[in-house]
Amino acid sequence: MSRAGAPRVLVLGGLDPSGGAGLAADVEALLAVGARALPCATALTVQGSGGAYGAEAVPVPLVRAQVEGLLAGRGVPVKAAKTGMLATAEIVRAVAELLGHRRLARVPLVVDPVLAASSGLPLLDAGAAGPADALAPLFARAAVVTPNWPELEALAGAALDDDEAAVAAARRLGARAVLVKGGHRRGAPVDLLVTGREVRRLAGRRRPGTARGTGCRLAAALAGLLAQGASAYQAARGAKRVVERYLDRGA
Ligand code: PLP
Repeated sequence: MSRAGAPRVLVLGGLDPSGGAGLAADVEALLAVGARALPCATALTVQGSGGAYGAEAVPVPLVRAQVEGLLAGRGVPVKAAKTGMLATAEIVRAVAELLGHRRLARVPLVVDPVLAASSGLPLLDAGAAGPADALAPLFARAAVVTPNWPELEALAGAALDDDEAAVAAARRLGARAVLVKGGHRRGAPVDLLVTGREVRRLAGRRRPGTARGTGCRLAAALAGLLAQGASAYQAARGAKRVVERYLDRGA
């Protein structure tokens, strides 16, 4: 597809200047599935090959202005949306409200419930309510939520010892579908796509080493494929291939 015809995906997340994760990773993953990003920054982070050093949330009025700027006038057509690092509960609330705009209310939304970087740097200050309550308005609106195993445990407030526990916790998030990523499990990295009625297993092959930003890339590619009419299952499979190709290239 020509660049001009590529479906646009609104992406709300943090800027990682190293390009490993966050908005820059989203842009790459969306291009890989023939879509284009409309990146709106919710936070600026300080990261490099030595680690993650800090983050500063973008003021809420500026988060709002970025999205409203895109929608103003004739507006840029948006075919899907994806959220990543949202930094504060206040930004989560503002984003949930912005997604109710008539031009966005019906587009598929992918919510990557980013809580902390693998380096340990916190990426969401959920406040006293805790991450599950803070993110609940986005889960309710999401086509797919993409927690990894530790994120699902943090959202559930309990350790999840097996698939059955993970599936139950995924269903409690209240989203139409949840893709529980298997990269942190022992053994094969099997992902679970959980909907109200069924659970589908997506097998994968573990690659040696670690790579940054795989979660961001998976969620962005998923949104890019949903933007083009794929089902949650088709989009999950396609997005997994995008991440596998990224890992095979040597991240
Ligand atoms: N920085 C930003 C802006 C992110 O959005 C994320 C993940 O979503 C990370 C860092 C974490 O990346 P990783 O845990 O792969 O280092």
